[in-house]
Amino acid sequence: MTKFSDLNLNPKVLKAIEEAGYESPTPIQAGAIPPALEGRDVLGIAQTGTGKTAGFVLPMITMLARGRARARMPRSLVLCPTRELAAQVAENFDTYTKYVNLTKALLIGGVSFKEQDKLIDKGVDVLIATPGRLLDHFERGKLILSDVKVMVVDEADRMLDMGFIPDIEKIFGFTNPLTRQTLFFSATMAPEIERITNTFLSNPFRIEVARQATTGENIKQGVVMFKASRKDREGSEKRKLLRALIDGEGEKCTNAIIFCNRKSDVDIVAKSLKKYGYDAAPIHGDLDQSQRTRTLDGFRAGDLRFLVASDVAARGLDVPAVSHVFNFDVPSHAEDYVHRIGRTGRAGRDGAAIMICVPRDEKNLADIETLVQNEIPRIESPLGSGSPAPEPEAAPEEKKQPSRSRKSSAPKKSEAKPEETAEPETSAPAAQESARKPAPRGKSNGNGNTPVGMGDHLPSFIALSFEERRAG
Ligand code: AMP
Repeated sequence: MTKFSDLNLNPKVLKAIEEAGYESPTPIQAGAIPPALEGRDVLGIAQTGTGKTAGFVLPMITMLARGRARARMPRSLVLCPTRELAAQVAENFDTYTKYVNLTKALLIGGVSFKEQDKLIDKGVDVLIATPGRLLDHFERGKLILSDVKVMVVDEADRMLDMGFIPDIEKIFGFTNPLTRQTLFFSATMAPEIERITNTFLSNPFRIEVARQATTGENIKQGVVMFKASRKDREGSEKRKLLRALIDGEGEKCTNAIIFCNRKSDVDIVAKSLKKYGYDAAPIHGDLDQSQRTRTLDGFRAGDLRFLVASDVAARGLDVPAVSHVFNFDVPSHAEDYVHRIGRTGRAGRDGAAIMICVPRDEKNLADIETLVQNEIPRIESPLGSGSPAPEPEAAPEEKKQPSRSRKSSAPKKSEAKPEETAEPETSAPAAQESARKPAPRGKSNGNGNTPVGMGDHLPSFIALSFEERRAG
């Protein structure tokens, strides 16, 4: 088995690796580090969870340990599709540069330009950025990219999904192809990605590592086939079913990520869960950075039990111990199913992945089963065979939400432009379900449920229970 000490890494980097507790390189690290250190372009076909981040961070630190950065001319550049991923890469640099003196700057949306400008003006060794934000800085004349010696493109397939490929091509164009080394990572090789690598990589060393087990025995999978009693009740009935599924897992469900296909649903589901006393918070690209960071930190620390997420926001997140993944929607890209359920059952732990499938998603379910080459076991609805009664008042927002899959949406910079406008759930709390979590703050209607978003000026009729209101 290869050892880190066989890889020609800087001894100071080896020391930091040892302190991080890693005993041996993962296959992508053992494969990518030697050619990277020889100065070759590398094409790594690997997804998150394989250790690919250290696969490019470790050789970069070793190579950058010699030399100094000049003002406004970063010596290396890492491009990531999302802010979270960029922040994670930055954390990796912090861990492994413990004994090497390197400067870095993180250029991501939601962080002030001023601070970032200051760092760049001084000169940075490593610039970690999302494409849109990097171009903003470049276009303001604050950056010169011709001195970039190592350029990393991370999660290129996700960049493609998010419409970032033209930006990536532009950025490549600002660097010097004769002096630039490129390390390029993608989970899949779509034709467009192949084209980019053919254009910008020079005789790359290609390494592919097996995808994470999709139907690993340690992940219990299941899907509930569900049809709403009425179309306009689908959302509220699905949310009720979700709560029943969560409850059905009992204490086994220590924490969970709940995936929705649309940002608007991420908000609605998170609000609804909170309303019913579940400890839940949303994460998606339209939320401001400090809120996203706070939510994520809370979830990582175990202070938040349910993270309701969109695919883009959750991509690449490294949360080591997630007991459950709930797919509120069947993902419209089969690949996303693999990424989603890969959040649980990590590092050999047991995990569970439970999905809700409505009739119009059956085609997508079939695509997933083709991809993973397995039938996902059908599980009985915990609400019985009949359709569940909806939440007492169906959320009005559902009637207005257009459905839009990523495929049909125009390329966009999701950091900057909302995919959809989220509308809050405005329905009053349900009476039939008493809160099962710590008593909410603020006014209560006597059932432990508290309407959110109304501050302290809660009209008295809302504070009545549903039955009380119905009774007049
Ligand atoms: P990544 O695929 O880069 O997101 O890494 C996934 C997880 O693997 C992270 O929690 C890393 O800290 C961890 N990791 C990276 N390299 C190693 C290694 N050589 N041995 C054990 N864990 C590692």
